[in-house]
Amino acid sequence: MRVEVDITKCTGHGICESIAEDVFEVQDDGTVTIHGNDRPESDRDRMQQAVTQCPAAALRLVD
Ligand code: SF4
Repeated sequence: MRVEVDITKCTGHGICESIAEDVFEVQDDGTVTIHGNDRPESDRDRMQQAVTQCPAAALRLVD
């Protein structure tokens, strides 16, 4: 599974970072960087939570 961000939508709220700070990092310019797009299946619940809670709907999971 991959987690991807649409940078054109991301507004830097950092909700994703608060859910998984080892994966998501909001940069000084207000956009998020993903450290390791390919996530193990065991990480699905946490990644789904980030996708669901992103207020800009900028994240998505790709199987
Ligand atoms: S929660 Fe969404 S809008 Fe906020 S930093 Fe993460 S991807 Fe960007």
